[in-house]
Amino acid sequence: MDDADLFDTMVVDCGGRLDTASLHPDTAASLNYVAGRARGFLKSAAAALPEMPPIYFDFVDNWSFNACAIRGGGKYFIGVTRGAVATLGVLFDRMLADPQVLPFIGTPEEEVADLPLLPDIGTDFVRSVAAVPEFPRPQDPARKEMALRLAELALDFLTAHEFAHIANGHLDYLQANQGSLAIDEVRGATWTPRTSETALIYQTMEMDADGTAVLISLVSEWGRVTGVNPRRGPEWEYTYSRPGLVSLMWSWAVSSLLRLFEEVRLTEGDSTLEDDHPSSRLRSVMIQQAAQRSPKPQGLGTHPAFRGEEPHKIPAIIAGRRDVETIFSQLTGQPEATEGLDEAWGEVDRSQMYRLQNYWRTRLKGELLEFAYAPLSSYGDSDEEATGEDS
Ligand SMILES: [Zn+2]
Repeated sequence: MDDADLFDTMVVDCGGRLDTASLHPDTAASLNYVAGRARGFLKSAAAALPEMPPIYFDFVDNWSFNACAIRGGGKYFIGVTRGAVATLGVLFDRMLADPQVLPFIGTPEEEVADLPLLPDIGTDFVRSVAAVPEFPRPQDPARKEMALRLAELALDFLTAHEFAHIANGHLDYLQANQGSLAIDEVRGATWTPRTSETALIYQTMEMDADGTAVLISLVSEWGRVTGVNPRRGPEWEYTYSRPGLVSLMWSWAVSSLLRLFEEVRLTEGDSTLEDDHPSSRLRSVMIQQAAQRSPKPQGLGTHPAFRGEEPHKIPAIIAGRRDVETIFSQLTGQPEATEGLDEAWGEVDRSQMYRLQNYWRTRLKGELLEFAYAPLSSYGDSDEEATGEDS
């Protein structure tokens, strides 16, 4: 049995492995492109960690919005549903095809007005587009490129997040302690009796997976500003010469991803159980903190884009999250979520964040050490975070 067959048996209950060879050539080509990028990333990430075994990446033949990290047959697997790829594609196409969304990108006058709404975007791709009339893709080349790039960034973050569940030892820890063989981004770890203790463990792991994904994906984008990483062709010179715009673009992509996961969990999740995942609002705040901790591009530490009104805040990351709230309202026709980012600094979320950081520092990080293939990060070790003082 090869890895593809093994993967198929691991995800058989969710639809099995998606055989892209059976699809329309255009669909197959775009999925193979996504898989190629993810496999390239996993290969280089694993190569940097001498003990890390290879990780197999593939798609799950399921239209829901989900991703998972699995251990089985002594191997590691990352699965992303075809629904997640399709939903991100439609979401960012719809955003950039709309002249009223991000109107400062490219030439919005080229776009068609009065596009249909996407009231159910997020849960199940087939269901969420079933009642939506077909609409044109972005017309302006710069906006079309931006839509593709945002989907790539969101998928990069998702792949890096799943990678962290494996490389940071989360999956092996769960197997050793709970007998769980998979982490599922919508349902948590499945075969475990759930208690408030397991919810705390999973939520802390989610914080760490997000923190690691920020470190990998945002720092890689910043590296394109200074030229440490290659830029993406002449059409991207404008963007990658502007660190603030790079952070903003990254935040649009990642905030949209979190927003979609939140929609799915609210719809599909079991609301009677304590949630395995922090709210998207809390995740956004913790991602913002992880961005602040990330090493800034060399020579740009004092660039205005990295210095907001408050010390060490990265204004573009917060602005991107706010933009996404507005954009989702424009796209779905639903009112803007009034509980905005600012409220995430309210007492409830703040105390939950310290609870996770504290659990990481005093317990989980130490317990993960024997399972981790990668060096583990610190969260909340600074005075500012540990004491809860306003910064
Ligand atoms: Zn996760």
